[in-house]
Amino acid sequence: MILDGKIVAKNKMDIIKENIDGITDKYKFTPELKLIQIGNDEASSIYARSKINRGKKLGINVTLERFDNIPKKMLIDKIKDYSIKRDINGIMIESPLPENLNFYEIINYIPFYKDSDGMTSYNEGNLSLRNEMIAPATARAVVDILEYYNIEERNASIINRSPVVGRPLSMMLLNRDYTVTICHSKTENIKNITENSNIIVVAVGKKNFLDESFTNKNSIIIDVGINYENNNVYGDADYNNLVDKVKAITPVPGGVGIVTSTDIFQNFLNGLDYQLNNL
Ligand code: NAP
Repeated sequence: MILDGKIVAKNKMDIIKENIDGITDKYKFTPELKLIQIGNDEASSIYARSKINRGKKLGINVTLERFDNIPKKMLIDKIKDYSIKRDINGIMIESPLPENLNFYEIINYIPFYKDSDGMTSYNEGNLSLRNEMIAPATARAVVDILEYYNIEERNASIINRSPVVGRPLSMMLLNRDYTVTICHSKTENIKNITENSNIIVVAVGKKNFLDESFTNKNSIIIDVGINYENNNVYGDADYNNLVDKVKAITPVPGGVGIVTSTDIFQNFLNGLDYQLNNL
């Protein structure tokens, strides 16, 4: 079975739009998501444009402020300024940042309820307390795909331990009674672990990393990897070889990535809701 991210994303977009429409009608304003980009990274510009377009479809005003470079203090002051503005409801710092700026240090100036990326320490930490109001969008996307397709298996291995994927996802799966094994570059016998898991989440950033030797016929593969080669995008799983040999698999493109782009707006909506009801 192909786990089609486009269908999951479309379903989520419809639900988010309905909620934003309701808020716009009730409070008579268009909510705003502020993107801050420093530098000229091409992939980062493409992601920013795609957020602007997705925002248009949802009735959210997504605005981009770009700097060639900016002193750290000025950037922090800017974030503090947007943090108290009531008409700005979400703030995202586009990565990568120039080397003089530490992403995780900078984003922690964003209040948790405006953290649409879901990556601040507060929101990452809250996952371990079963509070998922705002969660790293990629981890949320994996959960959304498993839930949309009613995957009943509860034994998962994740090949990744980053704060973007593996760490938050392990908490979110634990919150749903999964038994989770996290693997990384120092893990021995990864194939033994994945072969004995029902669900394999792979996010190592290496094309064709996950081949048949990691899987069995009942494997459910969630491919988070994004690898660019000759203007094409590939996941981490050897999709063409695996698609007929495993129980289910997400394609790349059209899998986790498109759901992640939508889940940024799920975070935005949840944060907006918090702002309207609590501040
Ligand atoms: P990252 O911080 O570099 O993490 C990569 C992880 O893979 C690390 O935990 C690393 O282990 C592990 N790894 C690398 N080589 C390995 C090997 N040979 N065996 C086992 N584990 C290995 O990257 P990231 O930010 O988490 O992103 C990972 C991938 O997901 C990238 O391809 C990225 O583009 C993609 N991504 C996709 C989305 C989406 O929406 N689809 C969103 C975000 C990221 P160590 O910790 O030991 O180094």
